[in-house]
Amino acid sequence: MKVCKVYPSLSHCGTCMNIWESYDYDISQMPSCGKCKFSLREYKIMGFVNGIFNTYALLERDGKLKRVLISKIHDIREKDG
Ligand SMILES: [Zn+2]
Repeated sequence: MKVCKVYPSLSHCGTCMNIWESYDYDISQMPSCGKCKFSLREYKIMGFVNGIFNTYALLERDGKLKRVLISKIHDIREKDG
Protein backbone atom coordinates (compact mmCIF):
# COMPACT_ATOMS: atom_id res chain seq x y z
CA MET A 1 0.00 0.00 0.00
CA LYS A 2 0.96 3.60 -0.42
CA VAL A 3 1.00 6.06 2.44
CA CYS A 4 1.52 9.79 2.59
CA LYS A 5 1.44 12.74 4.89
CA VAL A 6 -0.70 15.86 4.62
CA TYR A 7 0.42 19.42 5.14
CA PRO A 8 -1.44 20.76 8.15
CA SER A 9 -4.09 23.40 7.66
CA LEU A 10 -3.65 26.85 9.12
CA SER A 11 -6.27 26.16 11.76
CA HIS A 12 -4.40 23.04 12.88
CA CYS A 13 -1.23 25.04 13.09
CA GLY A 14 -2.81 27.50 15.43
CA THR A 15 -0.92 25.44 18.00
CA CYS A 16 2.40 26.18 16.31
CA MET A 17 1.48 29.86 16.08
CA ASN A 18 0.49 29.97 19.76
CA ILE A 19 3.85 28.54 20.74
CA TRP A 20 5.57 31.08 18.55
CA GLU A 21 3.50 33.88 20.05
CA SER A 22 4.84 32.89 23.47
CA TYR A 23 8.30 33.64 22.06
CA ASP A 24 7.11 37.13 21.00
CA TYR A 25 7.39 36.06 17.33
CA ASP A 26 11.15 35.73 17.65
CA ILE A 27 12.26 34.84 14.14
CA SER A 28 14.80 32.31 15.44
CA GLN A 29 11.97 30.46 17.20
CA MET A 30 9.70 30.35 14.18
CA PRO A 31 7.71 27.09 14.18
CA SER A 32 8.55 24.37 11.70
CA CYS A 33 5.35 22.69 10.64
CA GLY A 34 7.39 19.91 9.06
CA LYS A 35 7.74 18.70 12.64
CA CYS A 36 4.35 19.44 14.12
CA LYS A 37 2.14 16.48 14.95
CA PHE A 38 -0.48 17.23 12.30
CA SER A 39 2.01 17.01 9.49
CA LEU A 40 3.52 13.81 10.93
CA ARG A 41 0.23 11.93 10.67
CA GLU A 42 0.31 9.16 8.11
CA TYR A 43 -2.59 8.36 5.80
CA LYS A 44 -3.28 5.42 3.54
CA ILE A 45 -3.84 6.44 -0.08
CA MET A 46 -7.05 4.83 -1.36
CA GLY A 47 -7.14 6.49 -4.75
CA PHE A 48 -7.48 9.72 -6.60
CA VAL A 49 -10.54 11.66 -7.65
CA ASN A 50 -10.68 14.11 -10.51
CA GLY A 51 -12.69 17.23 -9.84
CA ILE A 52 -13.49 19.93 -12.37
CA PHE A 53 -10.49 22.05 -11.48
CA ASN A 54 -8.42 19.90 -9.16
CA THR A 55 -7.39 16.37 -8.41
CA TYR A 56 -7.99 15.06 -4.92
CA ALA A 57 -6.39 12.21 -3.04
CA LEU A 58 -8.71 9.89 -1.17
CA LEU A 59 -7.06 9.14 2.16
CA GLU A 60 -7.91 6.81 5.00
CA ARG A 61 -6.92 6.88 8.62
CA ASP A 62 -8.55 5.04 11.55
CA GLY A 63 -11.32 3.83 9.23
CA LYS A 64 -12.22 7.38 8.22
CA LEU A 65 -11.99 8.64 4.67
CA LYS A 66 -11.10 12.14 3.70
CA ARG A 67 -10.55 13.97 0.45
CA VAL A 68 -7.53 16.22 0.25
CA LEU A 69 -6.20 18.41 -2.53
CA ILE A 70 -3.35 16.60 -4.18
CA SER A 71 -1.07 19.59 -3.63
CA LYS A 72 -1.57 19.12 0.12
CA ILE A 73 -0.01 15.68 0.29
CA HIS A 74 3.67 14.90 0.51
CA ASP A 75 6.11 12.22 1.60
CA ILE A 76 4.43 9.48 -0.45
CA ARG A 77 5.94 6.08 0.27
CA GLU A 78 5.37 2.38 -0.23
CA LYS A 79 4.61 0.55 3.01
CA ASP A 80 4.00 -3.11 3.85
CA GLY A 81 0.79 -4.27 5.45
ZN1 LIG B 1 2.24 23.27 12.55
